[in-house]
Amino acid sequence: MPDASPPRIQPPPKRRPPFRNLRVYAFDPSLNWQIDTAVINQMTLQVPWEDLTPGPVGEYLEVVDVDPASGCCYAPVDLEDRFLLAQGGLDPAEGDPQFHQQMVYAVAMTTIRNFERALGRRVLWSQAEEAQGYQFVRRLRIYPHAMREANAYYSPCKKALLFGYFPATAEGRNLPGGTVFTCLSHDVVAHETTHALLDGLHRRFVEPTNVDSLALHEGFADIVALFQHFSFPAALRDQIRKTRGDLAGQNLLGQLAQQFGEAIGQYGALRDALGEVDKVTKQWRPKEPKPADLAATREPHARGAILVAAVFDAFLSIYKSRIADLLRIATSGTGVLPQGDLHPDLVDRLAREASATAAHVLNMCIRALDYCPPVDVGFGDYLRALVTADRDLVPDDDRGYRIAIVEAFRRRGIYPQGVRSLSTDNLCWSGPLDADVNELRKLLPGVEDLRRLPPDWSVSSDRQKIQQNMETSARAVHDWLLSDNGRSMGRLVGLAIEPTAPFSIERSPKNGLPKFEVHSVRPARRQGPDGQTLSDLVIEVTQKRRGYLDAGFQQRVDTEPMDSPPPEDFWFRGGCTLLVDLESREVRYCIGKGIESPARLEAQRTFLGGPADGSLHATYFGDPRRQAPAEPFAMLHRPVEETP
Ligand SMILES: [Zn+2]
Repeated sequence: MPDASPPRIQPPPKRRPPFRNLRVYAFDPSLNWQIDTAVINQMTLQVPWEDLTPGPVGEYLEVVDVDPASGCCYAPVDLEDRFLLAQGGLDPAEGDPQFHQQMVYAVAMTTIRNFERALGRRVLWSQAEEAQGYQFVRRLRIYPHAMREANAYYSPCKKALLFGYFPATAEGRNLPGGTVFTCLSHDVVAHETTHALLDGLHRRFVEPTNVDSLALHEGFADIVALFQHFSFPAALRDQIRKTRGDLAGQNLLGQLAQQFGEAIGQYGALRDALGEVDKVTKQWRPKEPKPADLAATREPHARGAILVAAVFDAFLSIYKSRIADLLRIATSGTGVLPQGDLHPDLVDRLAREASATAAHVLNMCIRALDYCPPVDVGFGDYLRALVTADRDLVPDDDRGYRIAIVEAFRRRGIYPQGVRSLSTDNLCWSGPLDADVNELRKLLPGVEDLRRLPPDWSVSSDRQKIQQNMETSARAVHDWLLSDNGRSMGRLVGLAIEPTAPFSIERSPKNGLPKFEVHSVRPARRQGPDGQTLSDLVIEVTQKRRGYLDAGFQQRVDTEPMDSPPPEDFWFRGGCTLLVDLESREVRYCIGKGIESPARLEAQRTFLGGPADGSLHATYFGDPRRQAPAEPFAMLHRPVEETP
């Protein structure tokens, strides 16, 4: 008889699920108090799977729940607990700090995933500036109960999101004196996470160098929060049903932070892309766009809201054109919907169109970040980045997305300086002239050397390694710019790296030449016309120059070499973003802000040193010498009366 040893059992391979289900409030807890919104206000987010330790602490985020105001430290939630895994995490509950930890984690991760999807690469937080140089930051810290006040903000120096809680006033649905937790608002969490993501991509955008700088940060953060609403299936269908498909009327999807807005004594949401509640009649009314509003609005949130309204308006016109055929089918060609409820199938189809359009517009807005100048960005630059990035992805604009964007921006007075017309082609960044293209190609390193520069930035690669590789590539680009070819190239793309550059530009103590910093070397992928993936290399180079409020003083420091120049009033930055085609070695775009531009220097001087009542910088930060305030967003988010 052969041995009857038991058969060996082959263990099945371990398959990680792609997602972790976590329940959250779709908007914020206040919608649970009304019967018509309660049913749509709980949803399950599918967060990319990652191994977590209690906190939750994962690859990108670390939730730290200490509450200095009450001296409490709440036990961290363990989302790996098998009971929680089985039921999609904890039940939404206002009074459960562990649910708060779950909610901030789930919403922040969803926002991160939207960025990674749009950019086709992993995201990095901005590095920490320490005495020994820049340090890699693996995790953004999130404090769900950081302070007892009506505020929440991203701290660029702490690399942390801080959420406050506060007693509500007697307005709206809030219980007077009841506690409002900002960490339970999808919009507030998505908004603050976006500040951190944007800072990770463009660390100079937090410096207020013109009236648009901080407004772009604020507006962009609202855009991301707003368009994420369209990925809430139940809420979307519900709002389509209630508005009978007309999303231009008052609806939850176009409003931000309901509970926060009401709790601080406003009559509606904190911000509304479509309209406002009249303070006297308490009735909602749509806002008519007026181009003159832009010039009159300087407060960053209010100015950012104009940008948000423009993008939302573009979304609405694209959505309308996408559903026109459905409405014709549903109405036998009249386009006039009959009285009563819409057919549920029509609601589903309209919702699908709205969600696809919103996802497309959100992707456009995120991808545009690769096409922005590295410093001193304005709304006009952002518009040009939007249309250029979209043209690269979808060469023929057969659905009219770009036209819709340009038209919506124009109606709000947003367009770049110095373009001949507002046709979309004219608004796209122009590439170098043909003669320069050839010249530039000759100056660039060989194809193989170029291809070695972009790190492996795929979604599975290690983020610290990406950062290290990017630094190695940045050093390679830096060395090459110091070569004869590189120097000629620098001249062509508007850098001032020659010995004859103004002496106010920081010089290297080693060779006495103007210093420059290679900020980032990263890949941007786009789909070619035949479906093939083409890669661009995005290189950002920046320089800084001592700026003085007194123009005469400036001239002296510019022209006379001094061993120790007088302390600057502000740092004036310039530089360029180069998009280089990795196949053809062609410089496709050079998006620059000249460091030697007298007009730009004068504009920044006026902005920073303007009259106390008119200068935004002076209002918020007092001393113009403080170029980068320690907490730019805390200052902005805190005062209730200044937060429209
Ligand atoms: Zn903000």
